[in-house]
Amino acid sequence: MHKGKCLCGKVAFKITQKITDIVMCHCSECRRVQGTAFATNGNVESKNFKFLSGENNLTEFKENDNKSRFFCQSCGAPIMAKLKNNPAYTRVRLGTITTDVYEAIEKHIFTESKASWDNICDDIPQHKEW
Ligand SMILES: [Zn+2]
Ligand SMILES: [Zn+2]
Repeated sequence: MHKGKCLCGKVAFKITQKITDIVMCHCSECRRVQGTAFATNGNVESKNFKFLSGENNLTEFKENDNKSRFFCQSCGAPIMAKLKNNPAYTRVRLGTITTDVYEAIEKHIFTESKASWDNICDDIPQHKEW
């Protein structure tokens, strides 16, 4: 149903379901890891996320005891995040998806900690935190 890849193309994957729980997260962690105003992330079941190439080209960043972020060690593209206490789900970065995504974006989150220069100009619901 979806395909995606990193900037250099070494890491490629496919997703065999619709992406759910899509949010635009404006928290400071997402901003720093992406270098952007916000990250657009969604959930897929880990069993429906399959690497086509480059799984061994990922570097794991353990953000805390529970959360790990995985990025391409060649180009730095953020691919996914996983929670140790919820391994059945993989959080994907929508910017790495190369197929069209028509699934709805549910909400903006952590708008209270958004960057001063970040202007939200759409009608999607906004939440100060979750
Ligand atoms: Zn890459
Ligand atoms: Zn965030």
